[in-house]
Amino acid sequence: MAAELIDGKAIAEQINAETAAEVARLKAEHQLTPGLAVVLVGDNPASQAYVASKDKMCTRLGLHSKRVNLPAGTSQGELLGIINDLNFQRTIHGILVQSPLPNQIDEAQVFAAIDPSKDVDGFHPLNVGKLALGDPTGFAPCTPAGVHELLIRSGVAVEGANVVVLGRSRIVGRPVSLILSQKAKNANATVTVAHSRSRNLTAICRSADILVVAIGVARFLKAEMVRPGAVVIDVGINRVEDSTVAKGYRLVGDVDFEPVAAMAGKITPVPGVVGPMTIALLMRNTLKAAKMRHGL
Ligand code: NDP
Repeated sequence: MAAELIDGKAIAEQINAETAAEVARLKAEHQLTPGLAVVLVGDNPASQAYVASKDKMCTRLGLHSKRVNLPAGTSQGELLGIINDLNFQRTIHGILVQSPLPNQIDEAQVFAAIDPSKDVDGFHPLNVGKLALGDPTGFAPCTPAGVHELLIRSGVAVEGANVVVLGRSRIVGRPVSLILSQKAKNANATVTVAHSRSRNLTAICRSADILVVAIGVARFLKAEMVRPGAVVIDVGINRVEDSTVAKGYRLVGDVDFEPVAAMAGKITPVPGVVGPMTIALLMRNTLKAAKMRHGL
C-alpha cells in the first residue's frame, strides 16, 4: 500500500479534547452546560447504536444529554409536539432527530420544525441556506463538516485543489461541495459534483486532487478512477455478507480499498474514520449552539 492512512480516530479525539476543554471552561466561568437532546423513533438497531454512542460521548465530554425514545407508531403530530417542547427547553441547546424515520413521518417537515438555532444536525432549510451563503452563524451538517476537518487536520491543501465529490445527497454530497467551494480559508476548491447521471465518471474522477466518495455502493471507486497521489475520503458504509466472520457481514466503504490505496497519496479506511468524526462534529455543534444562545 503506497497511500498514507488518514487517522480519523486521532483527529476526532483532538476535536473532542478541544470540545471538552471548552465545555469545562463554560461550566466554570458561566455555569453553563451545553445540552443535546436526541430523539429516536422506533427500534432500528443501527440507529440505537448511533444514539447510544452519541449519549456516551456527551457524558465523556461533559455535555448534558437527554434521550427521547418514541415507539415506531408515533404520529407526525406527536413528534412535532415533542420537538416543539424541546425547542423551548432552556437546558437543551441542540436537537437531533435520528433518521431514518418511520414511513408515516414526513422527514422534511420534522427537520423544518426544529428551532434553527438548535439544529445541530444542520438540516433545517435556514441552515442549508446559510451554508450556501457562507454565513458562519449557521450549522454545517456533521458528516460533511467532519470531511472538511479531516482534510484540514491531515495537512491536505484544499485551496485551489480540484475536488470531485461523488454523490449529491442532502446529507453528504451536496453540503460537502458547498463547504469546499466556499470563498474562505481552507476552502476555495474547484468542486465538481458527480452522480448517477454523470457521464465519463472515470475521467471526471481522474481529474481530482481530492476525491470524496459518498454514494452508498460497496467498493464502487476502482483504482483506474484515481489519479496517482490523489487524496481519497471514503464516506460510504456498506454491509457485505462474509461467512468467515462471526457476525456474517463486514462493513466496507464505497472505495475498493486495497487497489485504490496502492494508487492514492492519502486515504481513509472504513470503518473508523468518518463515523467518529461525525460524532465529534455533533458535539462541537452543540457547544457552538450553547455559546451562541448565551451570546458567548
Ligand atoms: P444517498 O443514497 O442519499 O445518495 C447517494 C448519491 O450517490 C446520490 O447522489 C446518487 O446519485 C449517487 N450515486 C448512487 N449510485 C451511483 C453510481 N453508480 N454512480 C454515481 N453516483 C451514484 O446516500 P448518502 O449520501 O446518504 O450516503 C452515502 C454513503 O455514505 C452511504 O454508504 C452511507 O451509509 C454513508 N454515510 C455515512 C455517514 C457516516 O457518518 N459515516 C453519514 C451519512 C452517510 P443520484 O442523486 O443521481 O441518485
